[in-house]
Amino acid sequence: MGPSYIVAIDLGATKLLASVFDTRLKKLDRIKCNVAGSESPKVVFDLLCQAISDLIENLSMSGDNLLGIALGVPSPVDPAKGVIENSPNLALNGFPIKARLKELFKCPVLVENDANAGTYGEFIMGAAKGYKHVIGLFQGSGIGGGLVLNGALYRGANGGAGELGHMIIQLEGRRCGCGHYGCIEAMASRLAVAKDVMGLAISGQAPYLASKLGHDITAIRSGLIAKAIENGDDKVAEVVNRSADQLGIAMGNLVNIFNPELFVVGGGMVEQFGKPYIERISASMKAYCTPYLAENVKVVPAKLGDDAIAMGAAALLMDELGVSVVSGRGKKG
Ligand SMILES: [Zn+2]
Repeated sequence: MGPSYIVAIDLGATKLLASVFDTRLKKLDRIKCNVAGSESPKVVFDLLCQAISDLIENLSMSGDNLLGIALGVPSPVDPAKGVIENSPNLALNGFPIKARLKELFKCPVLVENDANAGTYGEFIMGAAKGYKHVIGLFQGSGIGGGLVLNGALYRGANGGAGELGHMIIQLEGRRCGCGHYGCIEAMASRLAVAKDVMGLAISGQAPYLASKLGHDITAIRSGLIAKAIENGDDKVAEVVNRSADQLGIAMGNLVNIFNPELFVVGGGMVEQFGKPYIERISASMKAYCTPYLAENVKVVPAKLGDDAIAMGAAALLMDELGVSVVSGRGKKG
């Protein structure tokens, strides 16, 4: 029998990234394909199985040993049941994805919430390597989060811990996809920023943006927001700054509750606006928590990009199987 490998998949609402890792979490192969999240469960599941089969076929040709399949999904997942519990953007609610994959591929399967897996990936191999108390916060079309407490992923009673995006920071705030008002996700996600700057464009307060945009909100990516600011749309800059301030409020609350050492923040806006954006987030965080706890909390950008979720899921599967990642995890420095 040859070396051991894991197939790990980041299954999102718009794309699927399926990778192969060895037990050092070195990426050996990857397939990427588009997913229409609104497709029927069968279509999405078939696509997933095809990607896994393709990667396994490459492996078996070299006589190597598949350790298992690990999956990150945009939904809370009860780790024992492996069922997708609540995924507004992927038509797989209630789907017993773990059992179905086990049955088909006859190997161990782990299914984890994507932001939990991403945080764990950053903890094992990325920006949080060497730390023990870490909170991940990923700002995209929503806001995902994950908690690594005392060196282990914290899942809560039903696998739903770390849903940081639904922390309410403003009672009269915008309505969130979850049904409540003023969740940080509804106030400061990239999509929330896009809605705000779209409003500015329509009301004539962001002329550069209006000239580039039409009325297509999906065209508002972080790069275009940055261009609008460069070209004098000052109101757009205010919206971006406000999103950083609001993220900081949520993080200040989290500091008081969890006393973390480190926040890993990721997403297109963090990549686009870089250090000044992170410094603004950090300043706001410090203003909204106990000074004594704030002193030593670092805020750093995520490092692993779109590998974080698959890598973290693979690492969690290895933990479950008792296979250690050869990486010096948990040791500081
Ligand atoms: Zn919400």
